[in-house]
Amino acid sequence: MKTYTIASYQSPLGGPVEIIKQTFTAVKDKPVKRIAFVSGLHGDELEGVFICHRLTEYLRQLKETHSQAFLGEVNVYPAVNPQALGAASRLWPFFSVDMNRQMGNGNGASLAAGFSNALLDDLKSSSDIVVDFHASNLHLKELPQIRIIEEFGKKLIPLASLCNTDLIWVHPTAPVFEATLGYNLNRAKIPTLVVETGICLRIHPDFCDQVFKGMLNLLHNTGILNLPDPPEVKPPLLVNPRQVALIQAEHSGLFVSSIPLGSWVKKGEKLGDIVDAVNGTVMETIVSTADGLLFTLREQPVIYQGAPLARIALKETTQP
Ligand SMILES: [Zn+2]
Repeated sequence: MKTYTIASYQSPLGGPVEIIKQTFTAVKDKPVKRIAFVSGLHGDELEGVFICHRLTEYLRQLKETHSQAFLGEVNVYPAVNPQALGAASRLWPFFSVDMNRQMGNGNGASLAAGFSNALLDDLKSSSDIVVDFHASNLHLKELPQIRIIEEFGKKLIPLASLCNTDLIWVHPTAPVFEATLGYNLNRAKIPTLVVETGICLRIHPDFCDQVFKGMLNLLHNTGILNLPDPPEVKPPLLVNPRQVALIQAEHSGLFVSSIPLGSWVKKGEKLGDIVDAVNGTVMETIVSTADGLLFTLREQPVIYQGAPLARIALKETTQP
């Protein structure tokens, strides 16, 4: 394993702030392919940081015991927004800048924009495939899934199908994506998968293990690693926005769920209650509006009218 610093500045508060890259080189001079794993772009999203830990730990041991397995090159960027990670905040602290809205040209000369574009340039020069790990916000917990902008679907769906997620969600583009890492890399013809799993500020070891196995399967099936014993993975559901039912609150109050994330639910099945703690009443019983997989569930209970509570992937979805 070789360690590189791809961006650095001297913080007035102490030591240097750095983006670190761990490189596992191929056994031959010319790697068959180069893949990059990126996490921590949003500093409060820790599931990917843990997945990168699992990958680095595994790859380090594999390099020692089966170095011949490395037909391609693997680069791991475990913590690309170190200032925000240190503060457990989504945004680069002090300036409140979203690094994942700074990618590409014309985003100013701030330190956060400089770091973002140093990362983007390094990925462009050293990757054939990129996986960018994210977690959900504080409000909603998500089953492991890959989100794909539909214009990139043809290239990305076959790769995403290898990753052992519960779901692949193909959706239309929107202006908000234009300054993201995933969008800019895909536009530069470097296939980039955006993984979304769990919830921010938490680690779900079972979700992380599921995605970790998916990443090993991706490495094996793209020929980057030749694993003697690749893990078993399951095919994901493939959905578009018409195949996702969103359930929203009709009342403000406290949402208390009564069914675990990942359940297969029937139309009319109870998902939870919205309660009025002041008067001690149940204001609304939330039921599923469709048969399908409960893949998003409200975790933060304080809600207002219209707040998203759950998403169901409809049962009649196709498999890729
Ligand atoms: Zn994120």
